[in-house]
Amino acid sequence: MIRFTLACASGHTFESWFPSGSAYDEQSARGLVTCPICNSPEVAKAPMAPAVARTDRGKQDRLPAPQAPAEAAGPAQAALPLPMIAEPERQLRALLRAVREHVVATAEHVGDRFADEARAIHYGEAEGRPIYGEASPQEARDLVEEGIEVMPLPPAPDDRH
Ligand SMILES: [Zn+2]
Repeated sequence: MIRFTLACASGHTFESWFPSGSAYDEQSARGLVTCPICNSPEVAKAPMAPAVARTDRGKQDRLPAPQAPAEAAGPAQAALPLPMIAEPERQLRALLRAVREHVVATAEHVGDRFADEARAIHYGEAEGRPIYGEASPQEARDLVEEGIEVMPLPPAPDDRH
């Protein structure tokens, strides 16, 4: 005996036993093999495929796209809270002095070559590093227009003499 998985023209699948493969061919040719569900004689051996091979791409395509975070992280300047409490001016000066000291301690002083150096770093023609120096207002505007981030350095406390 041999067992075949069969499918009719309407897509019903069922299993049926036959004395041999040739017996199935003969009975099928004579229209004796019929679908037990709809009685259709149009029956053929069903293509065998593991159930997991069945895919439902349509469903996957309808999956909702990942939601963007409702509120993206704010710009970096939000990291420095401006003092809004008592003695704001004194605290602001202390903050600016701290910024200047940090820049002077960590950045390379390039003097009046600042605009050229900033441009060279921006375009990868010079080693990327923090720099500070002097730039005219026109040079600073040109840098900003080229998308090069510059910020004015607070004056040193002893700049007066
Ligand atoms: Zn059927």
